Amino acid sequence: MTAVPTPLELHRFKDAATGLDAVVAIDDLTLGPAFGGCRFRPYPDGAAVEADACRLAEGMTLKNALAGIPFGGGKAVLRRPPEAFDRSALFAAFGRHVDTLGGRYVTAMDAGTQTEDMDAIATGTRFVSGCSGQEGDPSPHTARGMAHGIRAAVHAELARGLDGVRIAIQGVGHVGAALAELLAADGAELLVADVDARQAQAVAAATGARAIHPGEILATPCDVLAPCAFGGVLDDAILPSLQCRIIAGAANNQLAHPGVATALAARGILYVPDFVINSGGVIHAALAWKGLDAASIASRVDRIGDTVAEILHRAKATNALAEDTAVALARSRLAAA
Ligand code: NAD
Repeated sequence: MTAVPTPLELHRFKDAATGLDAVVAIDDLTLGPAFGGCRFRPYPDGAAVEADACRLAEGMTLKNALAGIPFGGGKAVLRRPPEAFDRSALFAAFGRHVDTLGGRYVTAMDAGTQTEDMDAIATGTRFVSGCSGQEGDPSPHTARGMAHGIRAAVHAELARGLDGVRIAIQGVGHVGAALAELLAADGAELLVADVDARQAQAVAAATGARAIHPGEILATPCDVLAPCAFGGVLDDAILPSLQCRIIAGAANNQLAHPGVATALAARGILYVPDFVINSGGVIHAALAWKGLDAASIASRVDRIGDTVAEILHRAKATNALAEDTAVALARSRLAAA
């Protein structure tokens, strides 16, 4: 387990009346107010909530810096109460606490939260994105950025467009399904897998993809493997069976540990850092909160392809890992601000 980073600010909010038990970690404010979603799930104890918030907040600093948005990094983690609770009262209480931070942290949707929760938060603060009427689902924007990133990676590594390129997508939920449609439109040959077999079949029918068993997708021969289900999927056990040239997926923290990046490079597999390629959702949520129009936001999401190309070019030129190059580029942007 990697060390827990120390954030700039750590706030713990408890509210006995509603069962709220939340941590807001503000990691960095160099580029602007900290922007990052609020996660809502069960945790074994307060220390686990705090550790998750600190790690996620640091990741948001890097992601936002590379995304080129005027926001620092922060994250909220809310412990889901084990007993029955009033959901809207809990999120409204959270909103009141977010407001006490005076705009240094802006919250948004994350795993376990939905538009209605953002609406409840908005009863207590204006520092929230993704409320009703604001097109809250970040997934189509994440998928759009992913498609640009995959095009850039295929161009850099295989010197071709996506026509006829074989792409395997693990998990065709909100992001994976939208990504499949975009890649199919570019002429890619798609393989999809999901533990929800009906979902995989539906996406296959809509995109012309071939649905395969979820147990086979990671080891299937392909040009690009796109893990779009859950984190930690690239571990020591799966490494020897991978048969892809590029890994570029939406799932956060795909590498089970940092050594996997080195092992992938040794096998000649290019790993495109997840926090670079999956930033379309946060770009949309953050810039929509700032009031930018849809076309301007879309053009910012489209720049993910350029960022991926720049990172891969620098990594190749310096014989470094794309992961390390991306972190260094984010840190240099922070240092220059
Ligand atoms: P989702 O829950 O809508 O989709 C995930 C899909 O993966 C589901 O259909 C699920 O059935 C499937 N799945 C789960 N385990 C699987 C397995 N072992 N094999 C194959 N399929 C499996 O989630 P999402 O919103 O599409 O996000 C996908 C990933 O991308 C998540 O890790 C998420 O944290 C990350 N991410 C999402 C966004 C976004 O905008 N939604 C942004 C950044 C990162």
